[in-house]
Amino acid sequence: MNKKLLTGNLGYPRIGAGREWKRCLEGYWAGKRDLTSFYEEMNRILIANLNKQKSKGLDFIPVNDFTFYDHMLDMAVMFGVVPPRYGYDGGEVSLDTYFAMARGSQKVAACEMTKWFNTNYHYIVPEIGEREPELTVNRPLKAYRFAKQEAGIEGRPVVVGLYTFLKLSKGFPAKQLEEQAERFLPAYIQMLQELEQEGVAWVQLDEPALVTDCAEEELKLVEHIYYAIAEKVPGLRVMLQTYFEAVDALPRLVQLPVAGIGLDFVHDGGRNLAALEKLVWPKDKMLGAGIIDGRNVWRSDLTEKSKLLRRISQCVAPGLLIVQPSCSLLHVPVSADSENSLPPVIHEALAFADEKLEEVRLLSSLLAAVAGKEDPALQESRDALADLNRLPERSGSQSAKLAAQLADLPDTRSLPYQERVQVQQAKWKLPLLPTTTIGSFPQTAEVRQARQKWRKKEWEQERYEAFMKDQIQACIKLQEELGIDVLVHGEFERTDMVEFFGEKLGGFVFTRNGWVQSYGSRCVKPPIIYGDVTFQEPMTVKESQFAQSLTVKPVKGMLTGPITILNWSFVRDDLSREQVANQIALALRSEVEALEQAGIEMIQVDEPALREGLPLKARDQQSYLDWAVRAFRIATSTVKDTTQIHTHMCYCEFHDMIDSIKALDADVISIETSRSHGELIESFEVQDYDHGIGLGVYDIHSPRVPDVAEMEELIGRALRVLEPKQFWINPDCGLKTRGWAETAAALRHMVSAAESARAKLGHK
Ligand code: GLN
Ligand code: ZN
Repeated sequence: MNKKLLTGNLGYPRIGAGREWKRCLEGYWAGKRDLTSFYEEMNRILIANLNKQKSKGLDFIPVNDFTFYDHMLDMAVMFGVVPPRYGYDGGEVSLDTYFAMARGSQKVAACEMTKWFNTNYHYIVPEIGEREPELTVNRPLKAYRFAKQEAGIEGRPVVVGLYTFLKLSKGFPAKQLEEQAERFLPAYIQMLQELEQEGVAWVQLDEPALVTDCAEEELKLVEHIYYAIAEKVPGLRVMLQTYFEAVDALPRLVQLPVAGIGLDFVHDGGRNLAALEKLVWPKDKMLGAGIIDGRNVWRSDLTEKSKLLRRISQCVAPGLLIVQPSCSLLHVPVSADSENSLPPVIHEALAFADEKLEEVRLLSSLLAAVAGKEDPALQESRDALADLNRLPERSGSQSAKLAAQLADLPDTRSLPYQERVQVQQAKWKLPLLPTTTIGSFPQTAEVRQARQKWRKKEWEQERYEAFMKDQIQACIKLQEELGIDVLVHGEFERTDMVEFFGEKLGGFVFTRNGWVQSYGSRCVKPPIIYGDVTFQEPMTVKESQFAQSLTVKPVKGMLTGPITILNWSFVRDDLSREQVANQIALALRSEVEALEQAGIEMIQVDEPALREGLPLKARDQQSYLDWAVRAFRIATSTVKDTTQIHTHMCYCEFHDMIDSIKALDADVISIETSRSHGELIESFEVQDYDHGIGLGVYDIHSPRVPDVAEMEELIGRALRVLEPKQFWINPDCGLKTRGWAETAAALRHMVSAAESARAKLGHK
């Protein structure tokens, strides 16, 4: 082989190198930018994105991956899928309605938002209703024309596949999937036909839902959809793109009448390659080989990647292979260029979106290179990774020691829960239905400014500490006045629940500009775990101890759990995620022990992201849950019997993981409930859970202060299925996004609701 392989990209980060996309959106929402300048700036960002990809010489550049909010929302409005409450009446959906669906408005609540497969990106869930789908505007066509005109690019429009779109939508019973597909097909096909008429060569139809467990009827439906498209749009070449996992039904997919199939060879556990090597790849299909990791920030070892590519290339006829990232680059930051304040060895080992496209380009030419002469790029990438591996934080004895230790690490409390609860009750003497909060209290502008001033060294340590002490003091005073039973210090010192710990543990670095979109204009900057995670010194003891010194009531220590730290970071990929989770767990155990020694004997270890790491295929889920639970237990099981371990999860679909939640063996768990309208409570009718549990009695996502009766009603409902002696009363989640006035008012109502619930049970 001596021809350069084809290259492609599946999607590019929208946010711009300096998050100008976010600023543009927020400026417009705040009324600081008018519509004309909004469009001008958005166009400028898009053109820059396109030109950057063009400069890499890619053969397939995605268009229509850019959006003003979310690509699923774009799909919904393209087909007129707008719930009646927005007062929509057909035709092209206005920008105002679009943003109202995304974020809510004064008059109407936003659409639901949920995680895009197992990533940290959130999409707006389309609500399919009675209205007949119609093609209100051909977005991919517009995007195609724009790229051609403004950047001279013959782009490949990306559109969410119809199967995936429907699988992720709500508003109809699951068994109606087929009927819904029939309803949408005409408009969907019309959209593709218009692309065909325009002379568009290729379209990329994203079907990540194909990597989840698909039932036979679903596969039949996929076949139906793609046969219909092939029949009605014969002149458009379809790249059926999958990612995030292997496709179980690959032998069937390759029979589909599409011009290409895209597979993820990074996050497939080797399963795609194994399946590929077993089948005969059709001569009429391209294979999009996703071999550069689109979800992590590390540079590739190009030697290893070329080997993989060679194996893949042996399965398909020459000319059919496209080198590409494993998925859209939406999930990684834009460019590692500006990260020069990191240690050089780490900087050199990073590859964000731009560097990944460069790797794609390099790989395609490497395979074409004449045998015998090695391209220096291979050596460079090997060296960069070898240097990284030689760092003492990585190659030190820690990982090996831990691996050896792991089998024997204690992960069980010394007394079983039913006995522990007795000694705990004897120690703590809490009232029936104890009240507490989830940890954070309002983070006012003043608090945020104080942290910034301290970071920028404008404030000395003493001044900052004195400020924090004042905050803690006020927070404790308020909780005492309100009559809350178990107090918290308020978390004023924390910007972010993962970053705070990452900065104090060994093995983490923080980028200057490593932002990725989480939802809408919200971007996150995940820490990078590059080395062994180690405990350096107590991280939370000072604040908790100070808070405890101010009150005779118990103050809960507050930690972020190992799985949440893992799932909200970019993680080194030379160790398994389980190994890294265990390292974090061991480090947190030292913190738990330090808190206990300092007299903090209620300790909450938050795991809001436990469910997020759940593998996409059912058969892989239990083993993840098992090691995740074990990590939590490693962190929390060495305390005294009387020490009470709490945990918190945000909304959690409880029913299918109740066994794992039980296995955490936390003395008390708090879960967000109020927005699920009792659904979660219902699940306890069939599940038995006997540990302490607090189901949130009010929604903290809105400034609304619910009245006492409303909370009493939720408590009453919960007590129909849970024992009063196990039930705790708390808000849904932390209060950091709320203001003080509404927080105090809502907590006052909560305490009253608890009192009257106790009275009803004959307790005071
Ligand atoms: N303790 C954290 C807080 O109250 C928990 C946040 C979360 O669950 N995401 O802010
Ligand atoms: Zn929460």
